[in-house]
Amino acid sequence: MSLPVVRFAPSPTGRIHIGNARTALMNYLFARKQHGRFILRFDDTDVARSKEEYAAAIEFDLAWLGIEPDAVVRQSQRFALYHTAAGKLQAAGRLYRAYETSEELERRRKRQQARGLPPIYDRAALELTAADRTRLEAEGRRPHWRFKLDHRIVRWDDLVRGESHIDCASLSDPVLIREDGTYLYTLPSVVDDIGFDVTHIIRGEDHVTNTAVQIQLFEALAGQGSAPLFGHHNLLTSASGEGLSKRGGALSIAALRDAGIEPLAVAACAVLTGTSDSVHPVQSLDELAAGLDLSHVSRAQARFDADELRNLSARTLHHMSFETARERLAAAGISGPKAESFWRAVRGNLAVFGEVVEWWRVIAGEIEPGIEDCEILAAARETLPAEPWDETTFTHWTALLKERTQRKGKALFHPLRLALTGRENGPELAALLPLIGRVKAEARLSGRAA
Ligand code: GLU
Repeated sequence: MSLPVVRFAPSPTGRIHIGNARTALMNYLFARKQHGRFILRFDDTDVARSKEEYAAAIEFDLAWLGIEPDAVVRQSQRFALYHTAAGKLQAAGRLYRAYETSEELERRRKRQQARGLPPIYDRAALELTAADRTRLEAEGRRPHWRFKLDHRIVRWDDLVRGESHIDCASLSDPVLIREDGTYLYTLPSVVDDIGFDVTHIIRGEDHVTNTAVQIQLFEALAGQGSAPLFGHHNLLTSASGEGLSKRGGALSIAALRDAGIEPLAVAACAVLTGTSDSVHPVQSLDELAAGLDLSHVSRAQARFDADELRNLSARTLHHMSFETARERLAAAGISGPKAESFWRAVRGNLAVFGEVVEWWRVIAGEIEPGIEDCEILAAARETLPAEPWDETTFTHWTALLKERTQRKGKALFHPLRLALTGRENGPELAALLPLIGRVKAEARLSGRAA
């Protein structure tokens, strides 16, 4: 069997949000799991609303999530192919001119509804003679072009939803080309899916209604059985069940990044929410890919939970290996022989990655110690062992201190923590102490900034 080819096809008219990331990731991981290809296709046939800066921002956001496309294509560079396809449909009698204005169509729909009929386009334009068309065009009307559907039931085995069908007799012939000559999304999408040998179309369930039309288009342009497989996943909604807005506001990838949410947490949350799999932290996209199964995607809404995402992000950090964190630590100025044990010591306390900078200052920079109990601190200074120190030093030292001061628990540890780190809470002191080192520890226990 040939390797899968999938595509993620946003229009570059805004930034992407976590709901779009769900579609992108399901495609990317599906391909990755099977060593297939992932194409990023910009559906930018609407040249007025599409912007290069949005295309660049989408690529950036995808890269931040770990998605590297195998190819990037722009529909705006492929108009000639859409014209050719339109010509082919017209020659086959499947594309016809219609001249109704939207007001006329609206009036007709109202009349049909009043008579209890479905509001479907009545194909009146098919009755026009050449003379009618000449007259309409002389009046200044420009045609739009409709695809003549076969009135039959189209069936497909949806990768998510299972056996699916749409009776095309219940649909209006879709407009493929507007009267100003611009293309709606339908035809270019099919032309490109054929052109790039797309094998699986994985997208949101808001596209289920387009599928029968598209299958007929595949067959008209590339022959029977040429349509790829389709999988329509449920859409992410807000916690209260509303759809995510186009730009996504607080749920845009850019906003989540700015809030310090881990990309792997965004990915896990985007992919696992609304499936029969639990939303859990992962260490790599490969791990997420290995567990991906489109048949686990639920038919019900996928409700997004902001608290769950924050929590997932923190847990992602708590389990992150030094190898994974190394480059980002270096970018934050954290490198050298202490970097690895530092990471192990602090990762379990992080809510967001950026907090490493403050903890690095605690072990490598200067802090103002907190002084709470001078008696304990004096004893602590006197019993402070000689270096070299390791992770057992703290236990030996505090055992001595316990004996000396007759204190234990919080009464003993809290003054030490406050003096050594300047903070009320934080990572295990046993792990921090050898990183802080004797010179700084001694100074801090004496109340001096160090
Ligand atoms: N540009 C379309 C969208 O963003 C693509 C839909 C599809 O994947 O077929 O909705």
